[in-house]
Amino acid sequence: MAYKINEDCTSCGACESECPVQAISEGDDVYVIDPKKCVECEGHFDSAQCAEVCPVGAPVPDPTHPKK
Ligand code: SF4
Ligand code: SF4
Repeated sequence: MAYKINEDCTSCGACESECPVQAISEGDDVYVIDPKKCVECEGHFDSAQCAEVCPVGAPVPDPTHPKK
């Protein structure tokens, strides 16, 4: 399933450049992941890079956007 960024995000921006498919962008309050672009890093990395680099654990799996 796609990842989403929860309200713990401090908008540090660290995850944006780590996403292999440019799914992450700056939002109004927190950074946002485009669920249509997020591939859970499949085919790129063994784990979700946004979750790996985030200092506050804000990127989490989003059950409302299950795997296509
Ligand atoms: S899980 Fe991977 S593809 Fe999805 S937003 Fe995070 S870094 Fe990008
Ligand atoms: S790395 Fe974490 S805190 Fe920083 S912008 Fe991304 S989701 Fe937000």
